[in-house]
Amino acid sequence: MDKVKVLERYLPPEAAPLIGRWIDYFKCEFKISRNRGTKFGDYRAPYDGKGHRISVNFDLNPYAFLVTTVHEFAHLHTWNEHKQKAKPHGSEWKANFKKMMQPFFEKDVFPPDIKQAITNYLNNPAASSCSDLTLFRSLRKYDPVKESVHTVEKLPIKSLFKLKDGRVFRKEEKLRKRYKCVEVSSRRVYLFSPVAEVELLEG
Ligand SMILES: [Zn+2]
Repeated sequence: MDKVKVLERYLPPEAAPLIGRWIDYFKCEFKISRNRGTKFGDYRAPYDGKGHRISVNFDLNPYAFLVTTVHEFAHLHTWNEHKQKAKPHGSEWKANFKKMMQPFFEKDVFPPDIKQAITNYLNNPAASSCSDLTLFRSLRKYDPVKESVHTVEKLPIKSLFKLKDGRVFRKEEKLRKRYKCVEVSSRRVYLFSPVAEVELLEG
């Protein structure tokens, strides 16, 4: 199947042709991989007869997929220019990331809030791969609603759930119209509407 057609399933479609050209131009083996939990993508420099290799998690939303892909291509480009002499997220990488992001800004592929978050990230000298929470939070806003989101009334008693702000609660019995829930860290009791949307935690 045509590479660009495949990429369009994961990237904002306007971005797919250029990423396809980079894959050819840099002779890169580009893989869409399963979720590895701790990282969104990966770059491996040529080694032992193998060429450049990039992999990106399949389950990122299109904007996060694109930012991660450009992040990894910036590693590739930096390796071509400097080999081991440049630090992984040092000034050389950063300059390349900034430069390689430009065509996507010009094509206007990002919503304004993501564009702003990326611009802030690029201008922050301390920013590196995953340490910019504002950037990754704004990218995450575009994730499709996951099946782990439920209303409180549908959760089994004693299940643990999380709110958007990160606080974790345990569901207890129903008191009149609302559910008694205990915040795990403070042991305080709160009353939740049956239709409050929360994220079910495993185990
Ligand atoms: Zn990196």
